[in-house]
Amino acid sequence: MTFRTLDDAKDLAGKTALVRVDFNVPMEGGKVTDDTRLRVALPTIQRLRDAGAKVALLAHFDRPKGQRVPSMSLKPVVDDLETLLGAPVRFADDCIGPDAVDAIRELDAGGVVLLENVRFHAAEEANDPVFARKLADLGDLYVNDAFSAAHRAHASTEGIAHHLPAYAGESMRRELDALDAALGNPQKPVIGIVGGAKVSTKLDLLKNLVGKLDRLAIGGGMANTFLYAQGIDIGGSLAERDMADTAREIMAEAEARGCKLLLPVDFVVATEVKPGAAARPVAAGAALSADDKILDAGPATVARLLEALTASKTLIWNGPLGVFEVPPFDAATVTVARHAAALAKASVLTAVGGGGDTVSALNHAGVSDDMTFVSTAGGAFLEWMEGKPLPGVEALRA
Ligand code: AMP
Repeated sequence: MTFRTLDDAKDLAGKTALVRVDFNVPMEGGKVTDDTRLRVALPTIQRLRDAGAKVALLAHFDRPKGQRVPSMSLKPVVDDLETLLGAPVRFADDCIGPDAVDAIRELDAGGVVLLENVRFHAAEEANDPVFARKLADLGDLYVNDAFSAAHRAHASTEGIAHHLPAYAGESMRRELDALDAALGNPQKPVIGIVGGAKVSTKLDLLKNLVGKLDRLAIGGGMANTFLYAQGIDIGGSLAERDMADTAREIMAEAEARGCKLLLPVDFVVATEVKPGAAARPVAAGAALSADDKILDAGPATVARLLEALTASKTLIWNGPLGVFEVPPFDAATVTVARHAAALAKASVLTAVGGGGDTVSALNHAGVSDDMTFVSTAGGAFLEWMEGKPLPGVEALRA
């Protein structure tokens, strides 16, 4: 995987860099409630400023669907960004046209302007070439630092890259490096952990992974479907019983591709999903009642998973092993996450996780800082795990 990065961008003094960032931050009452995404963009902005470039930030916020929706303006982000950057940030009321042109012209070298929500124009999500050209005409180079938006071929994530020299920003580069180390060119043996609620939402992901991994541990509600497909009693557990054939196909594919599937050999069962509910470990194959629900992986399954992690060089993880939001059904997820993070901290395992609830599960286990990399990119991370080309990333290929 080779991408143009900021190392390849020369002679930036006085040039205007159009930088696509992900500023789709949580906001309440016009105030940013979590500035993580702003912080993530700082290294790229700072590097460009240090090189004497003018920085014009392109971003979307929420889903205005091509309308100018005042409550979806990016303006409230400016104050927080100024504080984090320690420098003034201008705001332009539109991302194309005279507002944008004037704001950029008035910047000094190293100055920063945030352009209004690109999704106020329907042409953004339609990847309209005329709109992409108008965006491109504002600057001299394009930098994409929004991996989380890279699975969409929109004008500010893909179309614009056809008109300007295009580079991966610092956070995009970190993400691509981590993903490459986890699945592109990983050190073997590679183990995957895929958990979460349903097989149906992760079919493409499972099919891609069985062709690439040495071991794949399946947990969470989706493991129930696999157990059911093997004739194991799962009582009244969450499962997609109509997906049993699909589960069997994935098992056969794993066997054919030399990927060892690790399905639960025991689990934690309770009759209600509530904090502190009476729970008992049950070996796979024992009889369950219709009230019994499998809510977490059992101790023997966890022990086997810890051993498999120790025997691996690379881990890619998506989805919790149980109902981690409700203790004690967080136990397997927390134990396995802590073991993976300890191995990563000791530099004997490259441990990468991400996608949806995985981030909150790893935060809940208190290990996010010790993992090699935790992707907050959600949909883009999952599509990448599915092996799909991401248009915003493809546009940056050298
Ligand atoms: P996903 O978004 O597909 O990764 O699914 C995450 C959700 O799966 C979390 O909210 C978990 O509570 C849920 N989950 C994990 N294991 C189970 C299980 N055994 N039964 C029901 N839900 C589960």
